[in-house]
Amino acid sequence: MSFFILKLSRYNRMRIVNTLQSDIPAEFIYISLDTVEGESVGHWIIECAVFLPHIKDLQKESKIPFKILLRESKQYKTSILSDFGFLESDIKYSRNMVSDGPSWQNQYVVPIEPGYMMYVPNFFYVFNFSTDNELFYEYINRFRKHYVESDSIKSIPVSYIARSSKENYSHNFRTFINMNEFRSLLTDKGVHTVEVDRFSSFKPQFEVVLKSKTIIVEMGSAFVINAGLIASNSHIIIINDAVDYINNYSPVYQAIKRLMNERKNTVEIFSKGVHRTPFSVDIALFKERIKLIRCMCVICKSSEFEPINSFSEFPIMAISNDSVIDDYYEFNLVACKQCNCLQVQNIVDPAILYSDIYMNSTFSSTWLHHNNSLGKFILANTTETSFLEVGANKGDMYTILSKERTIDYTVLDMYRHAELPTEIKYINGNCEMFDFSGINTIILSHVFEHLNSPNTFIKNIKAAGVSSVFISIPNFDDLLSKKSPNIINSQHTFYCGFDYIVYMFSLYNYKCENYFIYSGDFTSLMFKFVLDFTTVPLDIPSTNIQLYKDIYIDKVASIRNTVLPPNTYIIPSGIYGQFVYYFLRDKINVIGFLDNNSQRHNKKLYGTDKLVYNPRSINYSTATILVCDCPYKDEIVTGLKAICDSILFLYI
Ligand SMILES: [Zn+2]
Repeated sequence: MSFFILKLSRYNRMRIVNTLQSDIPAEFIYISLDTVEGESVGHWIIECAVFLPHIKDLQKESKIPFKILLRESKQYKTSILSDFGFLESDIKYSRNMVSDGPSWQNQYVVPIEPGYMMYVPNFFYVFNFSTDNELFYEYINRFRKHYVESDSIKSIPVSYIARSSKENYSHNFRTFINMNEFRSLLTDKGVHTVEVDRFSSFKPQFEVVLKSKTIIVEMGSAFVINAGLIASNSHIIIINDAVDYINNYSPVYQAIKRLMNERKNTVEIFSKGVHRTPFSVDIALFKERIKLIRCMCVICKSSEFEPINSFSEFPIMAISNDSVIDDYYEFNLVACKQCNCLQVQNIVDPAILYSDIYMNSTFSSTWLHHNNSLGKFILANTTETSFLEVGANKGDMYTILSKERTIDYTVLDMYRHAELPTEIKYINGNCEMFDFSGINTIILSHVFEHLNSPNTFIKNIKAAGVSSVFISIPNFDDLLSKKSPNIINSQHTFYCGFDYIVYMFSLYNYKCENYFIYSGDFTSLMFKFVLDFTTVPLDIPSTNIQLYKDIYIDKVASIRNTVLPPNTYIIPSGIYGQFVYYFLRDKINVIGFLDNNSQRHNKKLYGTDKLVYNPRSINYSTATILVCDCPYKDEIVTGLKAICDSILFLYI
């Protein structure tokens, strides 16, 4: 016996109960591992399961096998026990309990037979808990370490760890009144839902917890176990907070708060509740809460992503309008694990992005050239006379098409441009929610890549029977091969390469009937898609993720390390200048931005503290001009050289 006493003393919390009458060694040793409140999973883990790493170690050292003594059989108990190598054949059951302290909660299970050898942990009874007991945190951390090898990469944007629907603690019963509605919202949005009842191990559940950036849980065991004990560096959204988590100073919640802090989790109470009382979640409000998080891949709907890079406090737009207050977001770039499509995880509200304050600097001659090309492409590929254009700005396409053909033209946009010709029928709306019934031919010029959910748009037009779609988008494949830093931004929220757009349309029986690669000052891809029910979904496309990293890790690092002399100007302003400026370390040496767009002159560039100047107003004898990599680079340099032939240029 002395062997065990010596070994056990290291753990401090184990007691030995020996009621054997003879000196014959026990056939097995009981481990008392159930408490009166162990019928709640949260209680059982904190009170009992936390001892399992130590019990496992003891078993290795013991020549006599262990039998885990439980009060009753529950799936979560056998799941966790099996995670620690104890199978059903290693478990025995008894309903007998003995007192272990002053209150009714302090009870543990004992065998039925009178003579036995048993180890009993000094349980951390949740209602008789001491938060200053450092040993508790040690036990919790050892338990966690069994499941967590190292910090996981956050590949899942949002997960919902569903509360178990069976074996719940009957005293804490509450009905989730609109659970089905809530779950269908999460499914539509692509939130990764974990059905805990399906598992015979906690490993897959805890793996999802560790990989999730945001975790939605109900208050109670689901919160305590997943967020309190396992999660790290995650944001936790609590629904039905029936314990008043923020103000709850009970010892067990104090301990959970300490663990949450240590693992750098943040908490958001979405809705409050009342203990043991039915509850529901405000679906519209929750929808609003998660609407700006992209939970599933924009192309293939997978809910796992590889993080590429993340830039905090990034300006949401790049206008120059002094009456607008700057706003920022976490510019978080991820690549889908299934189709490798690069996309932003956080969406900027389109209602803000595409409101009338949004200044489009696309009215230059380079755009006129593009629009003429698109007009030719459309006229050559259809005899249609009735068109609906989505996002038409001031109606340039109408002007071009109507010169060649008598047409009936409708514009669907989120705001009406003041210069839109009056003969155009204008509809205010968002194409991702619009009913296209009765429409035959649609045009989207540099709009499709702005959609937050292009699949929803295609689904909509298919449902309405739209037969032809003309689309022009930036040539993403070309931009990627040139390592253009601005492939993805708050407006172009996903990598819409050739294969990706053709794949998405194929999912809804649209065939790419024709396309044209436009190469002007910038390159574009122009498509004609037609509804053809013989079209079957194509194979999921792919892109080399390393190419994204070349831009958003390597190129960004080189911008950061660029040494700037005093009196530097960045050209142009807008998204290109803003992007470079964000990363520059030597911001102090930047005086401002240069831009040919007179509407920007002497106004601040959004998201910076610097003004935009007319290139003709600069003293080039003392200035250095930092030229950003952008489609208009050559045009810009030629323009500046015409002003002064001895300009000091720096290129990024
Ligand atoms: Zn994907």
